[in-house]
Amino acid sequence: MGKVLIIGAGGVGNVVVRKCAMVPDVFGEICLASRTVSKCEAIARDMDFPVRTEKVDADDPAQVIQLIRSFKPDLVVNVALPYQDLSIMDACLETKTHYMDTANYEPPNEAKFCYKWQWDYRERFKEKGIMALLGCGFDPGVTNIFCAYAKKHFFDSIRFIDIMDCNAGSHGHPFATNFNPEINIREITQKGKYWEDGAWREVAPLSVHKTFDFPEIGPKEMYLLYHEELESLVNNIPGLSRIRFWMTFGQEYITHLRVLENVGMTRIDPVNFEGHEIVPLKFLKALLPEPSSLGVNYTGKTNIGCMIEGTKGKKDVIKYIYNVCDHAECYREVKAQAISYTTGVPAMIGAMLVMTGVWKGAGVFNVEEFDPDPFMAKLNEHGLPWVVKEL
Ligand code: NDP
Repeated sequence: MGKVLIIGAGGVGNVVVRKCAMVPDVFGEICLASRTVSKCEAIARDMDFPVRTEKVDADDPAQVIQLIRSFKPDLVVNVALPYQDLSIMDACLETKTHYMDTANYEPPNEAKFCYKWQWDYRERFKEKGIMALLGCGFDPGVTNIFCAYAKKHFFDSIRFIDIMDCNAGSHGHPFATNFNPEINIREITQKGKYWEDGAWREVAPLSVHKTFDFPEIGPKEMYLLYHEELESLVNNIPGLSRIRFWMTFGQEYITHLRVLENVGMTRIDPVNFEGHEIVPLKFLKALLPEPSSLGVNYTGKTNIGCMIEGTKGKKDVIKYIYNVCDHAECYREVKAQAISYTTGVPAMIGAMLVMTGVWKGAGVFNVEEFDPDPFMAKLNEHGLPWVVKEL
């Protein structure tokens, strides 16, 4: 039995805590800490398993160090925001504690996420004999593991990967984001970027799109975006000719986003408003529904998967590996919508594999660097069954 410290009590944090509590032989003691402690307490009150709650501002490594020294976890699971990745990693280094997250670092004043900042910790984690497991949600996370599994079992070489994220659910709000609004809107309003023939190629935001017929959902329009797993998969799946990421959006969502952009509400630089400096996107976040509040009336399904093309022997092979998740079923199980669920369950599984030593190492790792088989087996056991379709 081990101890896990979970930082962040939002949509994803709620799922990680509840799923960890369902595996008490691995997670014997759980502490949930966040900036607003009342959110931790509300989740803990609603559970049968005893969960310790703490207030922490994870931007301040000293506060995280103090919390780690007092609770003494085996692992820290960071499901706060990407802005806190480095300060929590610093605290883990100082206390020699394993680290895990679901989103890579980006600086608050620049909408630019990339792994370099965290990969730069490799030597320091190695020297301390601890591991950092990066990007262990669904995308990144399960999508990387689908690719590693395909590479191990179905292909001699992989030429093309298209990662496709479809949410065909309906939450009943005119406009809301399924995970943290600030991080989500920063991601979507960036230029699209993909890897082809040895180079990164950029396109204007949401300018490249096509229709795909998603199993169990039907045809949906999906848009090419830059996404963080592309960066690590290009390194870890050698020989790729092309890798792209696609996400579906409804017309209503795109129209709202365009208007918000046009009027300046997605800006991340401070503007002076009646003598106060405010960041428009942060103000917009304060107006939008919290991701953790969306689940109650959410209906419909998600389908997230990887379309992979390559060769096995002399044969051309195309496989689509995917998971379908139902918003209402997630809510019944853990009071969350499917985006929080599909992120929180893999985070719990990654934590389990680290804490039980099934995945181990000293340094900083992306999930596709480990054996995908135990992770794939756990997905089936813990609520995210997957399908392999031969095309
Ligand atoms: P939410 O906005 O619902 O929750 C974020 C939580 O982090 C809130 O409880 C917030 O506290 C807390 N927090 C923010 N800043 C700090 C801080 N300085 N110190 C301590 N706690 C802090 O977001 P989600 O739960 O939807 O997303 C959580 C993370 O998961 C994000 O990093 C997101 O990018 C990632 N994600 C990854 C996915 C994947 O598939 N890999 C998919 C979806 C999300 P407060 O309540 O006070 O604001």
